[in-house]
Amino acid sequence: MLSFERVRIKKADPDERVKTFDIEPLDNYTDEEAIAEASRCLGCNMCSAACPASLDISGYIRSTAAGDPAQTVRIIMETLPFPAIIGRVCTHMCEDICVMYDGGGPIAIRHLKRYAADKFDDYGEILRPQKRKFIGKKVAVIGGGPAGLTVAYYLSLQGVKVTLFEERPALGGFMKTGIPRYRLPQSVLDKEIGYVVSRGVDVKLNTKVGRDISFDQIMKEYDAVFLGVGNHKPRMTGTPGSDAPNVMHATEFLERVSFGERIDVGDTVAVIGGGFTANDSARTSLRLGAKHVYIMYRRRDVDRPGYPSMNADEEMDEAEEEKVEYVWEVTPFEYVKENGRVVAMKYWMNEMVKEGKGRAKPVPIKDKVYTIKVDMVIEATGQETDYSFLGDYVKKLRLNPHGEPIVDQNGMTSIEGVFSGGDSTNPNRDLISAVRDGDIAVQGILKYLNVMDKVSYDDLPILDRFKPYSYTAAQEAYAVRGLI
Ligand SMILES: Cc1cc2nc3c(=O)[nH]c(=O)nc-3n(C[C@H](O)[C@H](O)[C@H](O)COP(=O)(O)OP(=O)(O)OC[C@H]3O[C@@H](n4cnc5c(N)ncnc54)[C@H](O)[C@@H]3O)c2cc1C
Ligand code: SF4
Repeated sequence: MLSFERVRIKKADPDERVKTFDIEPLDNYTDEEAIAEASRCLGCNMCSAACPASLDISGYIRSTAAGDPAQTVRIIMETLPFPAIIGRVCTHMCEDICVMYDGGGPIAIRHLKRYAADKFDDYGEILRPQKRKFIGKKVAVIGGGPAGLTVAYYLSLQGVKVTLFEERPALGGFMKTGIPRYRLPQSVLDKEIGYVVSRGVDVKLNTKVGRDISFDQIMKEYDAVFLGVGNHKPRMTGTPGSDAPNVMHATEFLERVSFGERIDVGDTVAVIGGGFTANDSARTSLRLGAKHVYIMYRRRDVDRPGYPSMNADEEMDEAEEEKVEYVWEVTPFEYVKENGRVVAMKYWMNEMVKEGKGRAKPVPIKDKVYTIKVDMVIEATGQETDYSFLGDYVKKLRLNPHGEPIVDQNGMTSIEGVFSGGDSTNPNRDLISAVRDGDIAVQGILKYLNVMDKVSYDDLPILDRFKPYSYTAAQEAYAVRGLI
């Protein structure tokens, strides 16, 4: 019988999952649960307007309801080559705007994607890709994160010869080195990245452009270039004491753990920041044995990155279930050192001061100093992109005031034949936006190479299927619910 209530997903016991990187917080739907959940969808497709990649959501929910997960995966892979990854960690803004939000809960679009994708160990069995002849063009992709991999995948399907340069020893970008294994298991990364590159991508690992090969040489050897380099240069706070070895930037911390290092975090960890990276650092610290973990953010909970959204709430709920403690409105101003190591942190509490129409600013109240003992400080305070790898070409790259390359509607930068997307370029800084930028660049590169008459339209990522992408739809839904 049709039920209006969202089918709940089972959660792993927080006391058990926090002991290991091997237990995912959320379970998967059974066949019955997935069909029941998908059957609640009304098919209005409002959700697609809030999906950065404009996936055919109602289309694949329909095939799931009909008990055909293979068709679900086929529909998703028209635009997105990582259904199992995105099915676990997407920001799922689509669900925020689902018309069922107030009618039993939004359709569990993200969980249903994972349900379908996890049914297949090898997508080749259900997609049966045609082997295309070499189209006569060579493209270099710099960076093996979701943006670069998306470009590599869809261009390879068209018979373009793609060489992917990745400076790290593994592909995935922040999917591998940022998001921890308890949220995104290695087997899932291996399956989906393995499938993408098996389409004929020539992968050069441990190859940093600008160090192991010059950008100038790449420009000479390839017909077009895609920059999917993300933002990996840590921004530290510069708080006195931050030169101690037990103060680390979050992306360095998470990367070392992702490559198997068991960092000794001690008993008490303070994480500075409030977004994805802060939460993952805190929960990783617990899994490394910390007993008390504090996330210290300078603004209020309602100001944290990603809020308001279901994703931000779920992320905080999961962290609180694992006993991460949030401390809002704080400004750390000194990491107190003893024998070269930080042993305590001094901070002020803030008040939020609103000036004019702008966002309220945190202003420290300095007449009272607070101190906590810490064994480790992790700064999840953002990163930026280092463009020095471009050599002399850097002078030609036009950046906006935020330091992001300006790209046209085809994803091309101010350097002719050089395209860019993902975190370095897109302020959304999430996986599905990086994939969307990759989709745009694929079409842009094929047009630039003047080969649109040779492409297989069946294998082209579909752009703006239903409505040009904008956050407006999601923002309107938040406003209706009084969240903003
Ligand atoms: C801790 C953390 C948790 C996150 N959690 C989520 C989440 O739950 N959901 C979500 O949607 N998003 C999440 N994100 C954001 C998401 O991971 C990013 O938006 C996404 O990975 C950006 O993709 P990208 O391809 O642009 O860059 P990246 O994933 O950063 O990949 C860029 C790649 O380029 C390589 N590279 C850089 N310069 C060079 C060079 N000169 N030569 C060769 N290679 C180079 C890098 O080594 C890297 O592998 C998270 C990010 C972090 C840090
Ligand atoms: S908005 Fe909700 S009900 Fe409408 S198509 Fe999307 S998932 Fe289905």
